[in-house]
Amino acid sequence: MESVRFLASEIGSRPAGSPSESRARDYLQGRLAEMDLSVETRIFTFRGWRALAPPTLHVEDDELKAVALPYTFATDARGVEGVLRFEGDWPVIPGRLSCLRFRLENAAGEPLAAVLASPAGEARPLPNTLPLLSIPAVVISAEDGRRLRAHVDGNRLRARIVSARIWEGPLQSANLVVDLAGHDRFVVVLAHYDCVDGSQGANDNASGAALLLRLVRRSCEDGSGGVRFVLCGAEEPFIVGSRCYAAELCASGELQRIGACLNLDMVAVGDRFSVRRPDSSLWARAVSAMEHVSPAGLPIRESGAMPSSDHWAFHEFGIPSAQLTREPDEAWHSHGDTANRFSESDLDDAEAVAARLLEVARKELASR
Ligand SMILES: [Zn+2]
Repeated sequence: MESVRFLASEIGSRPAGSPSESRARDYLQGRLAEMDLSVETRIFTFRGWRALAPPTLHVEDDELKAVALPYTFATDARGVEGVLRFEGDWPVIPGRLSCLRFRLENAAGEPLAAVLASPAGEARPLPNTLPLLSIPAVVISAEDGRRLRAHVDGNRLRARIVSARIWEGPLQSANLVVDLAGHDRFVVVLAHYDCVDGSQGANDNASGAALLLRLVRRSCEDGSGGVRFVLCGAEEPFIVGSRCYAAELCASGELQRIGACLNLDMVAVGDRFSVRRPDSSLWARAVSAMEHVSPAGLPIRESGAMPSSDHWAFHEFGIPSAQLTREPDEAWHSHGDTANRFSESDLDDAEAVAARLLEVARKELASR
C-alpha cells in the first residue's frame, strides 16, 4: 500500500508522457533497486494528445458537463452545430463494455461529432479503442445520457459541441524490465503505471504495479525463475508501452522465448476476480486447475480475452495472454479512483491469486 499511496496520493494523476508519469517510473525503479535488482529502462516515443479546455455541449438551452474522448479530433472555436440522433450502443471495450452513443449530424445527415454516455456515474475519459473515431467526440454522465436518450426520441434536438485539443509530441515514456527468466521459456508479467488525466489511478493501476512489486519480491525469495516482469508506461493511449515492448521482442527474435503473458490491471476493488483469457490456452488450464475462490473468499471467474489492457499487445503476437482483474469498479477512470478504497489485505488476496496462476503456468512451460 505504500507504493499505491505514493503513486496515487503523493504523485496523483500520471498521464502517459507527462512529468508525473516519469516521477512514478523513478519511484518504481527505486523500489526495484532496493531489492538489488538490475532494471532495464526501455524508452519509447509516441504521439500525444491534449485537451486545451473542457469541451462544451449545448443541447437546446441546456449546457451539459462533458469531457473529451481522448485522441479524438478538435472543432474550431465556434464548434459544430446540428441535430442529435441516438445511434445505439458503442463498444467501449469490445465484448465487455458498451455505452450509449449519439451523433450530431448536419442537414445532409452527415456526422459532425459523437456524444457518448459514461456506462455509469460521472462523465469520464473512456478509452478510445481502435479504429479511432475520426470526428470530435465527447463523453457525458450516465444520467445525462439516459435523459438525452428519452428526449431525443421523436424530437429534432439542436446541439452544439466545442472541443479544443491538440496533437503533440513525440512524447516519451518507458517500460521497466526486470528479468528473472533463467530458463529458456518464460512468462512475462505486466502492469501499467500510467493513468488517465484527472484520476489518481489508485486501482487503475497503482494496484497492479504494487502487486507486480510483490511478485518480484516473491520470485526473488523462492528463486523459481521463469518470469520476466515489465512495468509498462503509456497503457491508456492504445496500450502503447506494451505494444512497443512486444514489437522490440519480435524484432530481436526473443518473442519465441515467451510462453505466456499475465497482465495485472485493476486488482484491488470489486466483488470478484476475473481472469480474461483465450479459450483452451495455458491460462484456461491454469484457472481450471485452481480453486475458484480467493483466500479472502472472493469468487474467481473466467471470461474470454478482450482488448482491455496490456496483455492484448502480446495476444496480438499469438502469445497466450490473460488479464487478472477484480471487478466491477464503478470509479474506473474517474476522480473517485483513490487509495482509500482498498487496503493491504486486498493486495494480499490478489497476490495469492496471481501467484497460483503463475505457478501453474510456470510448471506447464517447464514441463514442455
Ligand atoms: Zn488499467
